[in-house]
Amino acid sequence: MSNQFVAPFGVFGGVFGVVAVLGAFACSGSAPARSETAKATAAAVDAGAAHAAQGDASAPSAAPSLESKDSKAVARTLTKVSELRGLRSLRPVPGVKLGRNELVAAVRDKALREYPPDALRHEGQVLELLGFAPPGFDYVGAMMKLLEEQLAGFYEPKDGTMYLAADLHGPEAQATLAHELVHALQDQHWDLRSRSLYRPGHSDESTATSCLAEGDATSLMIDFLLQHQGQTALALPDTLLAELAESNANMAEIKNVPHILRTSLFAPYVEGIAFVNALRRKGGWAAVDRAWERIPTTTEQILHIDKWEAGEGPLAVDTPTAQRLGPGWSKVDDDEFGELAFALMYEEWMPVADARQVASGWGGDRSSTWAKGDEIAFAVHVRYDAAPASGKNTDQGSLSEQAVRKIATALKKAFGKPALSDANHICFDRRNTGPLLFARKGNDLVMLAGPAKASPTEWSATGTCATSKAWATEILK
Ligand SMILES: [Zn+2]
Repeated sequence: MSNQFVAPFGVFGGVFGVVAVLGAFACSGSAPARSETAKATAAAVDAGAAHAAQGDASAPSAAPSLESKDSKAVARTLTKVSELRGLRSLRPVPGVKLGRNELVAAVRDKALREYPPDALRHEGQVLELLGFAPPGFDYVGAMMKLLEEQLAGFYEPKDGTMYLAADLHGPEAQATLAHELVHALQDQHWDLRSRSLYRPGHSDESTATSCLAEGDATSLMIDFLLQHQGQTALALPDTLLAELAESNANMAEIKNVPHILRTSLFAPYVEGIAFVNALRRKGGWAAVDRAWERIPTTTEQILHIDKWEAGEGPLAVDTPTAQRLGPGWSKVDDDEFGELAFALMYEEWMPVADARQVASGWGGDRSSTWAKGDEIAFAVHVRYDAAPASGKNTDQGSLSEQAVRKIATALKKAFGKPALSDANHICFDRRNTGPLLFARKGNDLVMLAGPAKASPTEWSATGTCATSKAWATEILK
């Protein structure tokens, strides 16, 4: 199953939010004011850059035709996009306009067909267990709400067809189309279809692919919008998209959707465009093409381009076991978390800059989710990189020590007095959702949440910090 934060969007058929750089850029050609941004945010979200369904046709039944008015408009834009991107179009792309409800339904059907209901239920429960969603949280419903507000179209690798929301107009429609056509070119040259097949246990790798796909498509989309001003995406500060994403994530319409789902939705765009623009600054679009020949395998490589250039892969970590929980527990998920998912999780507890720093020592990880009846527990084991030999950080201890100190400070603010706190452990006995523990040994860090009994109204703890400490020792042995 996919991991709990970034990849829920994998679950939903690869629904990736394009932030609303759209109308705003097209109108002013420069950074829009916040208020303008908010208005311009009918952001394009597209599905289909990754995670094509494997089953029967998920696309709506309207038959794509190259002779339709929509397809002819797509063909004109494809020529332009192909020229800007420096990639030949190998075949035409049929285009179909759909009502928003049909678009959302198509993505939902795809997700529900591809993912077992139990897996979806457990993903939602882990969000509750970590305190990021309320008891009885309607995970699928929340995702649909996000999509309803944000979905503007998608490219379906399975039939090579573009589906666009019929209610978009002007620059917004053009930008969405340009973005999706980049996905079509990616598919034609680098086989998005096979790259986007659901691969259980490889969430971070899938997210890294999504970041490349979305960064590429979003960077070109901005070029497309700025072409008449003789500008490209490289003229804009890299922080701008992050700011736009933030204001988009705070739209009133989606305020009730848990914050981490909103930040997860935008992350592949924000992190992807920073990666792609860095490549473009070094070697133009040809450098981005080379990244497609050697796709980043971790989000660490996306967040730190030097690690991609150096070919630094993840450190191998064993999946956390759970014998200390006692008999009757079964493992319902075995996955990787990744640096980006850690950063997004820590952002729930501390300022963004701190969260990024705590996550940045990431070297590799493995997570597991455990269930016994209505009880659930979650474990992730991360191995930090060894501290750099030089530099002023050495007197502050290893990267994992620094991380634990920052985590402890932030969690005390969030949860009050810890039940357990020493140099290598910090643990909170949460009344409903049970213990939340971080433990460190050498360069290794373990986070444990639960066990607790899930309930649609009020959860109840079924473990304590004492049991969690013993569980952590089992994992860190
Ligand atoms: Zn996209």
